[in-house]
Amino acid sequence: MAYPEQTTGRIVIEKCAIATVDAQDTEYATGHLVINGNRIESLGPGAAPEGLGNVTRRIDGTGHLLTPGLINTHHHFYQWITRGLAQDANLFNWLVALYPTWARIDEEMVYAAARGSLGMMARGGVTTAMDHHYVFPRGAGDLLGAEIRAAAELGVRFTAARGSMDRGESDGGLPPDFAVETLDGALTETERAIDTYHDASFGSMLHIAAAPCSPFSVSTELMREAAELARRKGVRLHTHGSETTEEEKFCHELFGMGPTDYFESVGWLGEDVWMAHCVHMTDEDIAAFARTRTGAAHCPSSNARLAAGIARVPDMLAAGVPVGLGVDGTASNESGELHTELRNALLVNRLGPHREDALTVRQALRLGTYGGAQVLGRAQETGSLEAGKLADVVLWKLDGIGHSSIADPVAALVLGAAAPVTLSLVGGRPIVEDGHLLRADEDEIARDARDEARRLARIAADAG
Ligand SMILES: [Zn+2]
Repeated sequence: MAYPEQTTGRIVIEKCAIATVDAQDTEYATGHLVINGNRIESLGPGAAPEGLGNVTRRIDGTGHLLTPGLINTHHHFYQWITRGLAQDANLFNWLVALYPTWARIDEEMVYAAARGSLGMMARGGVTTAMDHHYVFPRGAGDLLGAEIRAAAELGVRFTAARGSMDRGESDGGLPPDFAVETLDGALTETERAIDTYHDASFGSMLHIAAAPCSPFSVSTELMREAAELARRKGVRLHTHGSETTEEEKFCHELFGMGPTDYFESVGWLGEDVWMAHCVHMTDEDIAAFARTRTGAAHCPSSNARLAAGIARVPDMLAAGVPVGLGVDGTASNESGELHTELRNALLVNRLGPHREDALTVRQALRLGTYGGAQVLGRAQETGSLEAGKLADVVLWKLDGIGHSSIADPVAALVLGAAAPVTLSLVGGRPIVEDGHLLRADEDEIARDARDEARRLARIAADAG
């Protein structure tokens, strides 16, 4: 995507606490960070070096914590306009309730929903977003293009996962037949998306991934051929896996094996693959993920909302599985925020067998930053504050009423209320200042999302 304004010169951020999330978890109680162009040039304790030339902006970070920008690894933007429905359902019942409405979405709706989803996340410190879009009704327009346009407008780095479903009810799948594509249609459109949009360069604003939806909505042929396509094109693979006990049962009935064994049988374990949820994993499943470096997107709020269970994040981390955090679609996590998932990941996992040893606040921050970069295949570029990496950074305000009495800034960020974002930069370009989006009108986003949600509800009701 073309960005008209390239950053030039240096930005200096100083007098703030810094959590780098580098391999040593280096932190500075008071430090500085220097950005040159789109990259981090240097960082360290104390004030910035004297005599730096071409400083175009100097930011006093007193009372703030500087971290890497947050990275979301699983989402369904279109659900922004179907929030608050099927409030008391498990995954399968929730899906069956929502498929008929989802099958009526069009390009304008998806654009409005993407702006809502992206705007909400960006305001909360997300600098790299991803979306898994898998509902493509015939004649609905360019849905993937609408999301890509929205991400470019808001200035967020983006992985668009081109999803698909081709196993309708008549083939033993969960979605109704009218909501699915053909095998060939799904593959052709996925390949077209990769050829049209995927930019593999350092600092790319846009990646495409191949992302058949789930074992219960996708044929075995599509799983296999999507993996072949992705590897031929050098893009990553994404899907839902091991989310619920119902899915596990489905896999045993249809394939004679559990989800992880099924994924392995169709070529879907590997360091170029990441899966959403990974809740119902045996020790053997976790070992297989670790051995193959398959990544996981942990979505604690969505898993709680749909009563899916608690993913074994401490066990996955101990085994060496790359784990990032995900908002998931906002029909199952209405808040749409990622910064609150740092806290929820820690809290939910402490309700599991590891209790108070499950996750530390620093591990939670790592999940939302470096872990996310790992599972999106971008750990060389973003996810930690290190010289040479992209200047994707967030300055969190911790001297306000919500946080000022907590001495440890990382604890304040993770355990405290959702912290306000004073500044968020993507590749050195500001996208949020003083808690507000710089590149879009929030009131307009809110109005459009409301109007499109109402339009969709009307169309779905008329059709129903
Ligand atoms: Zn999902």
